[in-house]
Amino acid sequence: MKYKAYMAHNFRTIPQLSALSEEEIRNIEIVGNVFPFKVNNYVVDELIDWDNYLNDPMFRLTFPQKEMLSDKDFETMKKALDDKVDKDTLKIIADSIRATLNPHPAGQMEMNVPEYDGEKLPGIQHKYEQTVLFFPSSGQTCHSYCTFCFRWAQFVGMDGLKFAMRETEQLVGYLGEHQEVTDLLFTGGDPMIMSFKVFKQYIEPFIDPNNKTNIQTIRLGTKVLGFWPYKFLTDRDAQEFLDLFKKITDSGLNLSIMAHFNHVNELKTPAVQEAIRLLREAGAQIRTQSPLIKNINDDPDVWAKMWRKQVNLGMIPYYMFVERDTGARHYFEVPLIKTWEIFQKAYQQVSGVCRTVRGPSMSCVPGKVQILGTDEISVNGKTEKVFVLQMIQGRNPDWVNRPFFAKYDPHARWMDDLKPAFGKKFFFDDELEEMIEEAKEELQSA
Ligand SMILES: *Cc1c(COP(=O)(O)O)cnc(C)c1O
Repeated sequence: MKYKAYMAHNFRTIPQLSALSEEEIRNIEIVGNVFPFKVNNYVVDELIDWDNYLNDPMFRLTFPQKEMLSDKDFETMKKALDDKVDKDTLKIIADSIRATLNPHPAGQMEMNVPEYDGEKLPGIQHKYEQTVLFFPSSGQTCHSYCTFCFRWAQFVGMDGLKFAMRETEQLVGYLGEHQEVTDLLFTGGDPMIMSFKVFKQYIEPFIDPNNKTNIQTIRLGTKVLGFWPYKFLTDRDAQEFLDLFKKITDSGLNLSIMAHFNHVNELKTPAVQEAIRLLREAGAQIRTQSPLIKNINDDPDVWAKMWRKQVNLGMIPYYMFVERDTGARHYFEVPLIKTWEIFQKAYQQVSGVCRTVRGPSMSCVPGKVQILGTDEISVNGKTEKVFVLQMIQGRNPDWVNRPFFAKYDPHARWMDDLKPAFGKKFFFDDELEEMIEEAKEELQSA
């Protein structure tokens, strides 16, 4: 299958758009000039149900929706396009809208950039002891963009390639000095956008039995199975990828594909099922993850079916995330209480083999905070309704797996909205404050 991409400038050539009115097409164009917009022929031809596109989760996942912009921002962009302003003016207008949408959430960049040999390594994030995230410079785009993507700012050129590195040399050097790191997670963008020739160079040092790192698991964070399974079926270098994966697993390393699936519909095509089979045949494990997103998968039955189908296809449900506080948040976000209810209703429908999934989890500054549920607790005769929380991962490993309480708030949507219960601080607040101060001082001296 030949890959064909459609973006804001050429998407009108998609044949299926004849089902849409000119106004609907224009709306996509308007919003697609603010948020990243790219979709490909597999998504268009095999995933989207064009008879029902208005309610189709795959359509909403990939085509910008009018409601993603406020009325005011929508009108501003519409006018700019109607007036046919020049390219530079259009970018200024788009950027000014983007700047109001919290393009850089959760202090990722400032706090987790390590150093090696006296140099900052901007393509690495090392937040949790055992796992290093690596952003290879040639893996910073995707086969298709998700409308809710929390890294959207990078795809509209607001970040450049801040999170990116060209060389593995520094990575291998850093990991050699950090024997506590067992997992190397390739992320992006999507590392599976890389050609084999480029990808191979990043992987080979770790297959070498004489390498001085303690890497035992290579993880690939990718949406390729959902958006372009032909990567492993018909792309020119498909077999080379599978052979390299086999070589990785034969060398005694664990290869974990961290596959991003947002909806059970992404699992139905013969292409994705065959790609999953081939990856497993190469010895890879496939773990699955997704945020819970309004208008796309805010339905417990969808999650239960998705986890069940994933297990049937030989995959391991891993994470359910809370939608992040960025971009078209008002369109996609679900209050924490509702997110937890959906998780719980889905979890109770599946057997233990699907319950490897953990969540709902917020990836925020202190760690990965999991919502365990709600309760009412009495302290000194005063009863308070609370959220019960714990960290799945913590900036300090000692914070992990300790239950803690936040005041119940039916409108809370993210960690920032939560206040400690009983008027106290969260147990980690003082230490976190110190860590943030330290990071700030370091930034200033750099
Ligand atoms: C989620 C995450 C990881 C991986 O955590 P696991 O629990 O091992 O899957 C690593 N680094 C960062 C910054 C993360 O957000």
